[in-house]
Amino acid sequence: MSKSVIVTGGAGYIGSHACKALRAAGYEPVTFDNLSTGWEDAVKFGPFEKGDLLDRARLDEVFAKYQPVAVMHFAAFSQVGESMKDPGKYWHNNVIGSLTLIEAAVAAGCPNFVFSSTCATYGDQDNVVLDEASVQLPINSYGASKRAIEDILENFGAAYGLNHVIFRYFNVAGGDPEAEVGEFHQPETHLIPLMLDAISGKRDALTIFGTDYDTPDGTCIRDYVHVCDLVDAHVLGLKWLEEGRGSRVFNLGTGKGFSVREVIDHSRAVTNKDVPYVEGDRRPGDCTKLVSGSERAIHELGWTPDRSNLAQMIGDAWKWHQTGHYDK
Ligand code: UDP
Repeated sequence: MSKSVIVTGGAGYIGSHACKALRAAGYEPVTFDNLSTGWEDAVKFGPFEKGDLLDRARLDEVFAKYQPVAVMHFAAFSQVGESMKDPGKYWHNNVIGSLTLIEAAVAAGCPNFVFSSTCATYGDQDNVVLDEASVQLPINSYGASKRAIEDILENFGAAYGLNHVIFRYFNVAGGDPEAEVGEFHQPETHLIPLMLDAISGKRDALTIFGTDYDTPDGTCIRDYVHVCDLVDAHVLGLKWLEEGRGSRVFNLGTGKGFSVREVIDHSRAVTNKDVPYVEGDRRPGDCTKLVSGSERAIHELGWTPDRSNLAQMIGDAWKWHQTGHYDK
């Protein structure tokens, strides 16, 4: 019988890709999701247990049923802009929800925990390549909520021996090359899917959020990582924990940054279509530049992010876009 892993947010974008990767690696991914932002038809690779992270009794029930070897915790609200307008939503759901989950894992004797954190915990540090030792100074409530969860994990690791791997993601993009699952948020806020919508006429022109940043072309720079590379790192992180290698933090990015204008240029090249866009104001909470130092994951985990180039990420996202999932 394959080993179970509880995947919170398994009905969402990254979680559903993680379930596919876990299944391929021989695990049973058990999706725990309240469907507030996820989609039940994205749960294709293992059982589905509907539930909310704030519901401790429901969590206890699911831990008892599956006796998982690990938790992979993706479920969270993740929109920077929204987190600035409604910080309570982020502290309540992300922080208290995660605390409830971590307490349930400890109570159930589940030894391993893989957590999806973010480069937003680093904040706006000009001209710095951010590595795992960089100071964490989040400038938005989303990043602050994720940093708080990292602290909880560190404390619970020290107190109860909960082994954890924390992944700080840079900008996740692309989709399953077989298009079984893909990115679909409602509402969508991320650059690449919004751009593909604009390209295909499904929505009005893309708005570039700010053209007066201190970057070569005035637009924000981000480090984009392919979702399939990202979830592969999670499987490696799980194996790392199962081998008893201890708690560790890893950045997941490529070390290369691209501006919003560069992403637009690549999208034009990949889709062979014009990208309608307008130039707008800055979005509150956005950092100028976020680029990862990712040597640790490559050297220690043996991670090979070889799909994380813009052409492949945009191409795979475009393939998913054309399946029509967007239109349901
Ligand atoms: N962005 C933009 N227009 C949009 C959405 C995003 O110019 O409609 C920019 C945003 O300011 C940031 C980059 O694209 O510099 C990536 O934003 P996204 O929301 O995809 O991810 P985030 O960096 O917030 O995690």
